[in-house]
Amino acid sequence: MPKKIGREEKKIIDKILKIIRGNRTFFISSHMRPDGDSIGAQLALSSFLKRLGKDVYIANRDPVPAVYRFLPDSSDIHVVEKVERNFDVAFILDCGDLQRIGDIIDLKNRVKTIINMDHHLGCELFGDYNYVQPQASSVAEELYDLFKQSHREITKEEVLALYVGILTDTGRFQEANTTPRCHEIVAELIKEGISPQVVSQRIYESRSGPGLRLLSSTLGTLEITAGGKIAHLTITQEMYKETGAGEEETEGFVNFARDVKGVEAGVLFRETNVGDQFRVSFRSKGRIDVSKIARLFGGGGHRNAAGCTMRGTVEEVKRRILKAVSQEVNNTGTAKERHSKRC
Ligand code: AMP
Ligand code: MN
Ligand code: MN
Repeated sequence: MPKKIGREEKKIIDKILKIIRGNRTFFISSHMRPDGDSIGAQLALSSFLKRLGKDVYIANRDPVPAVYRFLPDSSDIHVVEKVERNFDVAFILDCGDLQRIGDIIDLKNRVKTIINMDHHLGCELFGDYNYVQPQASSVAEELYDLFKQSHREITKEEVLALYVGILTDTGRFQEANTTPRCHEIVAELIKEGISPQVVSQRIYESRSGPGLRLLSSTLGTLEITAGGKIAHLTITQEMYKETGAGEEETEGFVNFARDVKGVEAGVLFRETNVGDQFRVSFRSKGRIDVSKIARLFGGGGHRNAAGCTMRGTVEEVKRRILKAVSQEVNNTGTAKERHSKRC
């Protein structure tokens, strides 16, 4: 059994369960360009609420990425520009701030109670209730605790959705947020019938031909700077056109930059189809806090995985971002240097 949760966490979960019991209509949303945690958490929560007889509506600004469409009821996630309905309660999942949902609803006027469930470092406490646990691997992990505390069975579909949330947000159990506790929870989920092999095949061994060709051309853009500590990759609109792959197939590309031996921070620059706008993804090793860098440019994330968007020419964007990354890398120092300072 996973270790017990803390008193404060228990208290906030109790409050949320009380709100669930006392209300009827629920809105669920999560961040733009959803990932495995945002999709898994939304589907698990929706299923749980529906079993309690609640009226549930899930809406996102962007569609469910193809690799997550095998999840039961993923087609229940509406893709909308604006939601014109009123709800008793809104659950906003996996969003460090409210802007991340992409302005799809006027929460102030359409919703009575906002519940913020998140695990980002420095998450803004925008909810009437904030269940924010930066030490949790994922929102899926937080939901597991909420489900357990409700003393209800967890269905097979919910187990799968939670597993996908934890698996993807921990980068297949490789990132720093991979804790004994999340392994204990995953052990429970596997006992409930999850096949890690099948899920892994659905999510990670499902690249398309065009997607793999885009990876090949992206790897060709690799540049290593700052004495081998920073590596970066670039994807232009031209590259999408040449290969026929879409942006959603670039999931995980940034990790290749970080994979280089000795590199402390990897960056991926993606040109978007909106004028001169770039999406920037950061991944780091060890103590380098890339969420700090992303926040400098209006973005956010976690210590070892973060992102932001930025306007400018490709040269400008790269210059500004790489300057900030090298400052952070130099200020933090390499693991070796830190070690020698200690000794
Ligand atoms: P990505 O590189 O897009 O996979 O994002 C890595 C992490 O950074 C995720 O936890 C995202 O929630 C967060 N993130 C990415 N882009 C942004 C952004 N524009 N604003 C805030 N957080 C972001
Ligand atoms: Mn997410
Ligand atoms: Mn998450």
